[in-house]
Amino acid sequence: MLETCLLGTGGMMPLPYRWLTSLMVRYNGMSILIDAGEGTQIAMKKKGWSPKPIDVICFTHFHADHISGLPGLLLSMGNAERETPLLLIGPKGLARVVNSLRVIAPELPFEIVFHELSDAEEQIRFTDLPEFAKVRPEDSASFRDLHLTAFRVNHNVTCYGYSLKLDRAGRFDAGKAIKLAIPQKYWSLLQKGQYIREADGTALTDEEKAAFEEKRALQKEAPGASGAENTAEGEAAAQTADTEEEAGGRILTPDMVLGPARRGLKITYTTDTRPCDAIRRNAADSDLFICEGMYGETDKLSKAKEHKHMIFAEAAKLARDAGGVKELWLTHYSPALVRPEDFLPETKKIFPNTIAAKDGRSTDLMFEED
Ligand SMILES: [Zn+2]
Ligand SMILES: [Zn+2]
Repeated sequence: MLETCLLGTGGMMPLPYRWLTSLMVRYNGMSILIDAGEGTQIAMKKKGWSPKPIDVICFTHFHADHISGLPGLLLSMGNAERETPLLLIGPKGLARVVNSLRVIAPELPFEIVFHELSDAEEQIRFTDLPEFAKVRPEDSASFRDLHLTAFRVNHNVTCYGYSLKLDRAGRFDAGKAIKLAIPQKYWSLLQKGQYIREADGTALTDEEKAAFEEKRALQKEAPGASGAENTAEGEAAAQTADTEEEAGGRILTPDMVLGPARRGLKITYTTDTRPCDAIRRNAADSDLFICEGMYGETDKLSKAKEHKHMIFAEAAKLARDAGGVKELWLTHYSPALVRPEDFLPETKKIFPNTIAAKDGRSTDLMFEED
């Protein structure tokens, strides 16, 4: 389950009834925040969620309404005696910007680790980031199914959108397990994601699992020893795997008893951008697409173009054209837009499942029954 809360829905400046746009997602004891403008920690308090256990903060870009709340948030985390490192993800220059802001929050009881984005699009599996191992040293493998795509959008400074995805394993397949002669006593353990040495029935540690998977990926890239494109590394890995197989029997893996992966969950978040292809591509099949809509009025289109923002109709067209989007939440309203819901009937004509989100709008995304 992905617990999701859009803490604020404002753009540019916080208002007495509207905090700045920020999204918080919790999964299996892990918390991720996207953007932290002025007042985000107050919006979080209103929701009843604590900033202390946040593991990762992602930034779309370095305009004040998306990052100026960070120093205060860090101080609150420090006051709550947080000790584990915090991972920050954002555009190139992240460390420089954050370290400048930290002049007013210099002493923190925890370390900050940075992951700067440089490519137009980057796939991030948290557990593959060396920085994440510092944040979650013990149980990092329990977050293997959670991953992030950061994709560059079109604003007047470098700006990224994010898709957060939760994979879902396939259904148990007894026929497959029997065909592969997997002893029945291991079925449920494998189904729970364990890796088992067939020879002695012991389970692999998270580290051993990761090493095994890495080796398996290399073997896939360079199958057999005869391929002309084999890398020395791939050959070495294949040989090691062979030896291991001879010495200790098979390593039983969850995919030996499971069918093909099922539909997981996906949330896409984009603010401060003109419509672009990267959004359309990445928003496809989102259970929840959170998109900026700075203005409701269609006659504000030229203003939106000038400041690299969107009107509601453009956000709705993105949701429609992406394909497979289940629900659209509009956010990042101009302070002049007092009643976003007034523009909803027109917007729904383009994408019926549109919601003019208000601060604190929450949903628990669950896997489809099947
Ligand atoms: Zn903004
Ligand atoms: Zn901006």
